[in-house]
Amino acid sequence: MVEIVDWARNLLTSRGALVEEEAGVLRAMLSPELARDLDAGEWLSLRFGAGVRSDDESEWLERFGRLLPPDARVTGARLRHPRLVPTVDSARLLDRDLAIQNGIYRLAEDYQATARYYFFSFQYTMESDETSLGVWTVCLNASARSLVSQPESMLKAVADDLEEDPGFVRDRLAIERDELKQLFPMALRSAQPEIRRLAQGMELNASRRMARDSERINGYYRDLLRQIDKRIARHEGDAQAAEKERSRAAATQLDRTAKLADLARRYAVKIRIEPGDVLAVSLPVREISARVIRKKAERAAKFHWNPAAGGLESPWCESCFGRAHPVFLCDDRVHFLCKSCLAPCASCGRQFCRACQRKCKCGAAA
Ligand SMILES: [Zn+2]
Ligand SMILES: [Zn+2]
Ligand SMILES: [Zn+2]
Repeated sequence: MVEIVDWARNLLTSRGALVEEEAGVLRAMLSPELARDLDAGEWLSLRFGAGVRSDDESEWLERFGRLLPPDARVTGARLRHPRLVPTVDSARLLDRDLAIQNGIYRLAEDYQATARYYFFSFQYTMESDETSLGVWTVCLNASARSLVSQPESMLKAVADDLEEDPGFVRDRLAIERDELKQLFPMALRSAQPEIRRLAQGMELNASRRMARDSERINGYYRDLLRQIDKRIARHEGDAQAAEKERSRAAATQLDRTAKLADLARRYAVKIRIEPGDVLAVSLPVREISARVIRKKAERAAKFHWNPAAGGLESPWCESCFGRAHPVFLCDDRVHFLCKSCLAPCASCGRQFCRACQRKCKCGAAA
């Protein structure tokens, strides 16, 4: 089981940083490029785990994820026989499935097109006093910049008709260098909260067991300390004996603190995510081209309807790369956003786009 500290150290070292670790604190000197990628200073000092002064593990998992190369095995596939996609009622689809909350669209046209889908698989390990393993698949449509909500069922619908894609094999290097490099961090960001959600059950169980065990430990030490107190009272006339008992009490308290810290370590849920294989599949879709308008700003956009997926695909949120459904638009650049990436600032209440700016202008942390 690799903990985030080891993982981060390996990753930073592999990217040329000078890294040292001492008593659980990771210190690193980063190149300017690396600091920029991580959105950090050139001197990095991180402490993970329980405690008030420790750094947010999930936030750093996300930042470090940006450094990962997609060195997974990549396969390209397409349909064995070309297929015609039936025409659709595009206006109805946009109204029903896109559900723009604060803007409108103008339809241009719709036609048959080919979309390239990337199925990224991530193996995850969740470990506390029990272990759970699994695979999470994220499917991105690179052509329409949308997220497929049920990748497994879409893959199942076409699996029997797939063959290796000679076009993909030919262009593979370019694709891997450009498209995959761009998409991989998005897929990872989109997978992380889902995998965290899967871990919630384990976290709940672990904290329940931890509460039970800490109660037992506290009870045991409470009795011990009570006995020592009695002895101190009994030794009222004997200063030396009383002092001895008092230092025994101090040692007992230290012992209890150490036992409780052990417990917290044992029950802490550690999540490790590793990139697995990538499958790139070209599939026929109905492409709907439209202009999306928010107040005075507008942008051109393409939306895909794939018979193998059911409804219209939702664009990915251009800030968190989760599913933007329903779609919220930002005022300046008409970014497609999920609800929480256009939420009001917790401090000043002003709404702002997390894709345009990481922090609110009032200066409050995100
Ligand atoms: Zn979002
Ligand atoms: Zn604010
Ligand atoms: Zn924006």
